[in-house]
Amino acid sequence: MLVQKFGGSSLADLDSFLAASEIISKAAKKEKTVVVLSAMYGITDLLEGAISTAVEGGDFRAGLDAINQAEKEILDAAEKAGLDCPKTGTYSKIQHQRLASRLEGIALLEQCPVDVQAEILSMGEGFSSRLMSELLQAQGHDALWSDTDVLPPANDSYSDSLVDVEAAAPLLHQACDGVHNILVLPGFYGVNQQGKPQLMGRNGSDYSATSAAAALNARSCEIWKDVDGFFTADPRVVASARCLDEVSYEEAMELSFFGAKVISAKALTPLMNAGIPCEIRN
Ligand code: ADP
Ligand code: ASP
Ligand code: MG
Repeated sequence: MLVQKFGGSSLADLDSFLAASEIISKAAKKEKTVVVLSAMYGITDLLEGAISTAVEGGDFRAGLDAINQAEKEILDAAEKAGLDCPKTGTYSKIQHQRLASRLEGIALLEQCPVDVQAEILSMGEGFSSRLMSELLQAQGHDALWSDTDVLPPANDSYSDSLVDVEAAAPLLHQACDGVHNILVLPGFYGVNQQGKPQLMGRNGSDYSATSAAAALNARSCEIWKDVDGFFTADPRVVASARCLDEVSYEEAMELSFFGAKVISAKALTPLMNAGIPCEIRN
């Protein structure tokens, strides 16, 4: 069993979705693969911005339109490439109506309740994960999408939730059971017993992936980003930064504590507890 996670920077347009789908299909030929996806590049920021604008009484339509446009563009490109994704298209339309009415409510209230904020911010991952599973299916792969009621929250925070790894284990194993060799999950949130999404914090999709890997006792957890690996410092800032071949969980946590924003200590913890290796891949 392998867990692969793709971040927003690897999910900018159709080409990058297809590049990721190629990596996924190669892995799934060898072993059952659970795929965890972030939202498309910039979408969570747009959703967060639309909430703030609505709270402040500003015009949130521009943010809504930008999200709509980004989703429409990628769906159109997929259709042009002969990879029609009708279910994702329908999902996108329904979510936009929902988002518009939620934002109108927020504007009236001049505040956004935490559970509504979580519902809105989770929409980016809802879209990208459905799109990836339908793109994989359109390419002939046996991929199944599941919501993250298979990653039940361990606390009641709507903004910085933890996963109950023990409770997730049988649920995830069951979701992996069957002929499909790819299971696609949205990152960033888990669905609680009331059916509501609880967020795992900004950049939380890494933690979703590592929690899933721990629950499944996966062979490895691959985190695909826009860098070659774990560097001694941020390679975008420090030209002389070196890519480390291997680093212990403790060293990685220490580096992340001092600002190596490649993977958080929160995301490393489930892997450290379960002794599962993490591979940062480009
Ligand atoms: P994603 O959102 O795709 O998961 P992130 O943006 O969270 O990816 O993480 C990747 C970014 O982390 C890189 O673009 C890089 O600039 C930054 N980064 C910061 N510190 C480090 C480090 N020590 N090693 C590698 N990348 C780092
Ligand atoms: N989309 C979320 C964020 O931008 C979670 C993630 O990408 O990991 O914070
Ligand atoms: Mg990120």
